[in-house]
Amino acid sequence: MGTAVTTTIDIRVVSLLQTLTDFFKGPSCPKCPECGSNISGDLCPNLDCPIKVAKWITHWCSPEAVDIPALDQARVEQLASHRLVVHPGELYELGQGDWDRLEDVSAGQLAEIQGQMQSSKLAEPSALLFGLRLPGVDTNLAKRLICVFGSIDKLRETKPRQLQQAGELSEQQAVEIRRWFRDSVNRQALQMLEQNGFRFSG
Ligand SMILES: [Zn+2]
Repeated sequence: MGTAVTTTIDIRVVSLLQTLTDFFKGPSCPKCPECGSNISGDLCPNLDCPIKVAKWITHWCSPEAVDIPALDQARVEQLASHRLVVHPGELYELGQGDWDRLEDVSAGQLAEIQGQMQSSKLAEPSALLFGLRLPGVDTNLAKRLICVFGSIDKLRETKPRQLQQAGELSEQQAVEIRRWFRDSVNRQALQMLEQNGFRFSG
């Protein structure tokens, strides 16, 4: 009898606590299916969220960017979900042991991926810029910015005011481009790409 009463009280306390917890949490936020972070808008705020990483790497490998078709979306998603890469620079640092973790990739297919990755180092500056996925920079804007500023290095050093004037950009676009180049992950990506044979100076 005593036990039954205690159990009933326990259940009431638990359900009251749950109600209070729900109340203080507010309406439940949508969560990123991959990393579980609360999503604001339709964007996962987690910098190394595998979904975000996979989108960037897939974009990097697209024909309009550095063109690595052998590294298709399924393979990119595996690299991201195994946390083997967080930005395109890390693709070029993967060792044999990392590649071995991909499922269903034969030695021949891996050689094809690596051959295309080698050729990607010769991509045009505007294709590289497009591949870096700066906010609002589509293929046309990437071509125009390279045409105006000459190189990614020059673009990276340009102050927002000059970016805005010479590049015919809105103030917000110029600020966002500047901010992209100052971000630590993006800077690390550029540095790693340079260490692996990419040239951003023109
Ligand atoms: Zn996420």
